[in-house]
Amino acid sequence: MKRKILFLTMVIGSLCLSACGQKDIPAGNTGDVSAAPSVTEALKPTETHAPTATPVPTPTPLPPDTTAPELTLLGESAVKVIARSEFEDPGFTATDDRDGDLTSSVQIEGEVDVNWCGSYTLTYTVSDAAGNTATAERTVEVAQPETVYPEGKVIYLTFDDGPGLYTEELLELLDKYGVKVTFFVCGNKNTELYRKIVEAGHTIGAHCYVHDYGVVYKSDEAYFEDLNKILDLIYESTGVRTTLIRFPGGASNKVSMICPGIMTRITEKVTNMGYQYVDWNVSAEDSVTRDTAEILNYMVKDTPKWTYPIVLQHPEGRSFSFAAVEDYIKWGLDNGYTFLPLTPESPLEQHRVKN
Ligand SMILES: [Zn+2]
Repeated sequence: MKRKILFLTMVIGSLCLSACGQKDIPAGNTGDVSAAPSVTEALKPTETHAPTATPVPTPTPLPPDTTAPELTLLGESAVKVIARSEFEDPGFTATDDRDGDLTSSVQIEGEVDVNWCGSYTLTYTVSDAAGNTATAERTVEVAQPETVYPEGKVIYLTFDDGPGLYTEELLELLDKYGVKVTFFVCGNKNTELYRKIVEAGHTIGAHCYVHDYGVVYKSDEAYFEDLNKILDLIYESTGVRTTLIRFPGGASNKVSMICPGIMTRITEKVTNMGYQYVDWNVSAEDSVTRDTAEILNYMVKDTPKWTYPIVLQHPEGRSFSFAAVEDYIKWGLDNGYTFLPLTPESPLEQHRVKN
């Protein structure tokens, strides 16, 4: 670049000399500016006024360029990204002793799929005009979030199969006690309810779009088709992209035997995709009994057996189960428990797969 500037200065200098020495201007018109050739015109090199008088010295050739550009990665060269979150390259800079800033010429090879756990390598390459190349590598690990264990006595109360007849009343009840829980929802036309769940500060997770084992577990493809439908519905209604899911019947279900091995495959696949599937360790048994006192008893009896109790209940469409919720909350609060909504970092209960 320096060489070019020097050359240009010299050309302009010689053109100036020849313009100042103009002999074509008539003597009487010396003071008439309009008649005189403009500076631009005067600077134009022509055949007759070519700057031949001042020779341009040949620049001394520089020694051959053998130095590669300097390529610097910004941020860490090993990065960890939580699956299903955004990955933004921390950036890089590239400079060369002769060519200057080459940052915009850096090529990146490789891709990071945030929707699949694993290790990815990004290779950055940049070359200078002489063909000297510099490369750098960054590894990006897409992974499940680390578990954060809560302190004190906690209860993760989870409601499956809603929204339903009692969802709104439940939300009022939870609000009355200042309690946050988790709703694993199914497909429902009343999408307002998903929004209300989220607005009230509860966690929303995906259960299934159609609660029909024959449909959901017909094949691996059928399962993911159903899962995507409920995830899309949740997102469209609430703006939340939840990663928490609960399999219909739990991960240990045998109703999926219609498709041998499906639970083994899909539990592994959803985990690689960055979802967290959550089972339970305390059951209200409200699919077994319709007796409210019995339901309450199951919950109260089993909760203290676990450090991180995850309680399964279906109160949104079942009056006899709904009727047990208030007493269970009162019991929990009276016994020093804090009700927490599940997050991707919560300690998760996962059943042993049986199919
Ligand atoms: Zn269910």
